[in-house]
Amino acid sequence: MPSLDEMMAVGQSCSEYAPTHWSPRSSRPDPEEISCETCIHWQGEEEMCDLDIYEEQLLNLDQT
Ligand code: SF4
Repeated sequence: MPSLDEMMAVGQSCSEYAPTHWSPRSSRPDPEEISCETCIHWQGEEEMCDLDIYEEQLLNLDQT
């Protein structure tokens, strides 16, 4: 089960991150809102990322 901290860390480093809910006028999303949870590719805790890169991104975080 992904934790909120992990989802934020992954979202902030993920190159495929695409926000779901910001209006076109707000071009600079609040960094604290960037998380897999607010990404259009996130399918929920069961299915997780529809690109299937969540685990990969999480592993990449640990390598820095
Ligand atoms: S849901 Fe997938 S595409 Fe979106 S930020 Fe997370 S890992 Fe990246």
